[in-house]
Amino acid sequence: MALYAELHRHLGGSIVPRVFWRYLIRTGHPLADQYPEYDQFEAFFTRPRKSLTEYLELHSLVESVQTLETIPYFVSKLVRGAYVFEGICYLELRYTPFYRTTKSRPDAWRIEQMRDIARLVAQAGHSEIYPIIMRQIFCMHSKLPYEINRAMLELAAEEQDIVCAVDLAGPDVHYSERMDEWIELFSRARSLGLKTTGHLYETVDGCDPRLLPYLDRIGHGIQIPLLYPELLPEVADRGQCLEICPTTYLKTGTLPNLMAVREVFQRCRAAGVDVAICTDNAGLHNVRLPWEIENLLTSDIIDFKMLNRCIDAAFRHAFAWPAAGRTPRALLSEMLTPRPAEHLF
Ligand SMILES: [Zn+2]
Repeated sequence: MALYAELHRHLGGSIVPRVFWRYLIRTGHPLADQYPEYDQFEAFFTRPRKSLTEYLELHSLVESVQTLETIPYFVSKLVRGAYVFEGICYLELRYTPFYRTTKSRPDAWRIEQMRDIARLVAQAGHSEIYPIIMRQIFCMHSKLPYEINRAMLELAAEEQDIVCAVDLAGPDVHYSERMDEWIELFSRARSLGLKTTGHLYETVDGCDPRLLPYLDRIGHGIQIPLLYPELLPEVADRGQCLEICPTTYLKTGTLPNLMAVREVFQRCRAAGVDVAICTDNAGLHNVRLPWEIENLLTSDIIDFKMLNRCIDAAFRHAFAWPAAGRTPRALLSEMLTPRPAEHLF
């Protein structure tokens, strides 16, 4: 079995359609009346959207049912699937904890509840039957006010046993007008020992170079090699890895087909920029990591040499992989290497 590190996956997009549909049916959710048959629901859930903004509305739908009561169900199912079907041994799961708190309560109360949410996610992600290493990334959100993003960041810093980094997510059309705020927040995160990543250079609206120096990894970043290749040398100098999620670009309408992704891999390779292959929303897409990889291989977007480079890069750039630069591949190879029998010497 291959062993993968998944660096970019959203809790809101991790729930595969069948698990989500079963939940809706069981709880009598209004959507279950609209889609009483699974096939219809899957078609609705996984169809491509016209833009990133429209695509993110689907996240809001899933987020609305992920509460303190239901998180154990959803997280335990996604960990089970990652282990059994995907060969994932290390997972960084990202989400906006504020959006999982009780909506009817005042903001101050909801901010307090975020700690319970984070601890519950960690607890639900721990399984002796399906053991994977899971850490959380908190997504600051472009639609949330500064105070709430700041509170998520401070909580992340206090819970570094379970939270390894902060991210910036949400509609990227809102990034530039608040850039001073994002820079301050990401600087603060780093000063507190947190790692950083951000959804940046994903669409043409989210291309702002001012935030780049404050990121350890870049969420997507595909527009750098495609539209701003002059930035590649500085990305390489900073040792930043691009988290590439191919199916997303088709579902959000960012790219017309996967051919442009080949350029992304090749230009990054030529510039010495590492790339990790990720799923973003394996559930919403119904495309798990091994299938994401198989699609790239069978479409001739990458070859096996590139694939192996990307698999190893994911472990090298993982924020909390405990084996310090040593991949599962290297560890297994060491175990398989015949050693001279000691009694002969
Ligand atoms: Zn994402």
